[in-house]
Amino acid sequence: MKKEDSIEQIRSSYLPYGRQWIDEEDIAAVIKALKGDYLTTGPYIQLFEQKIADYVGAQYAVSFSNGTAALHGACFAAGIGKGDEVITTPMTFAASANCVLYQGGKVVFADIDYQTYNIDPVEIEKKITNKTKAIIPVNFTGQPVDLDRIFKVAEKYNLIVIEDAAHAIGAEYKGKKIGSLSDMTMFSFHPVKHITSGEGGVITTNNKEYYDKLIQFRSHGITREPSKLNENHGPWYYEMQFLGYNYRLTDIQAALGCSQMNKLDMFVGKRNEIVSKYNEAFKSVHQITIPFQSPEVQSSWHLYIIRLHLDEINVGRKEIFESLQKQNIGVNVHYIPIHLLPYYQQLGYEKGSMPNAEQLYEEIISLPLFPAMTEQDVKDVITIVKRTIEKYAK
Ligand SMILES: *Cc1c(COP(=O)(O)O)cnc(C)c1O
Repeated sequence: MKKEDSIEQIRSSYLPYGRQWIDEEDIAAVIKALKGDYLTTGPYIQLFEQKIADYVGAQYAVSFSNGTAALHGACFAAGIGKGDEVITTPMTFAASANCVLYQGGKVVFADIDYQTYNIDPVEIEKKITNKTKAIIPVNFTGQPVDLDRIFKVAEKYNLIVIEDAAHAIGAEYKGKKIGSLSDMTMFSFHPVKHITSGEGGVITTNNKEYYDKLIQFRSHGITREPSKLNENHGPWYYEMQFLGYNYRLTDIQAALGCSQMNKLDMFVGKRNEIVSKYNEAFKSVHQITIPFQSPEVQSSWHLYIIRLHLDEINVGRKEIFESLQKQNIGVNVHYIPIHLLPYYQQLGYEKGSMPNAEQLYEEIISLPLFPAMTEQDVKDVITIVKRTIEKYAK
């Protein structure tokens, strides 16, 4: 009865869709931090921030306990508050929009471009009102958005651009590294991302005012900076000047982050090699579309997403997905569009309002992609995906 039972198992072990790379150097770095004088904000924090700022070519980097906290900080620094509207894509992780709600702002979704899967600058402009304060574009899968077109809209309407680059450390837009171009850019160090600190995130910026606000925001709104104090009672004195949070990264995590930064280019290189093999293998399978690559950008390849042509296949996406999982290929779906999540539905966002994102959501499957994949892993994915599609092809 079950067709899958007739498929001979090629893989004996489950291959996840993403996985961190931790080596002896990373372990040694963490041990060294543990033996140091600081477990939280210590020397590794500054070192990690400097490494990231240098790598992306930004003046400042401020680390946070995770990428979501970093986005929250960016929304605060941008002055987003009650009544302000912020435009973002529905085809992303919930955090890209949640950060606006934390600040009491209103999320306004703009639909994606069906070719790049990124937010469509034309749709952004349609959503602008006199309450719009910022745009949060997401470099979905690691492919940079068309920043020049987004900056043009932002300039015209005086909007702040907070780039969600959780997928895109190491990516380039027109020859420049992502992280130095927008008003603020966020990177995440969750273990499925390019580099990890366990949990962690960062905002990069060239703006000193944003930098100062971010530093204070991640530590309760407290400052000891003499030039910023209204009074000074003595050497112990500090002021809490606004409501901030405890969003600090630990020195232990930063030590891991520093060690991982040394391998970032190697990680991106390995992801690129795997993607080339996937593209080569799948470009002739006409029941699927492989990821679009704009010549103006260099993706850092966080995700490899295939789009199924459901009218050329005898079963639904769910059956293909389940069949691949049964064959030990850890597929995933990125993402359920945010406006369809129950919480956002309760806020009044409607199904049908984002046709491109909603259609894409029905058709996509993310294949395993991480630097520690072996040649055999890659071959297995190719063989299993190809024969599964063939089996169900019309
Ligand atoms: C991972 C991710 C985040 C949040 O990062 P965390 O470090 O997990 O909080 C935000 N946006 C996108 C697109 C992400 O993939």
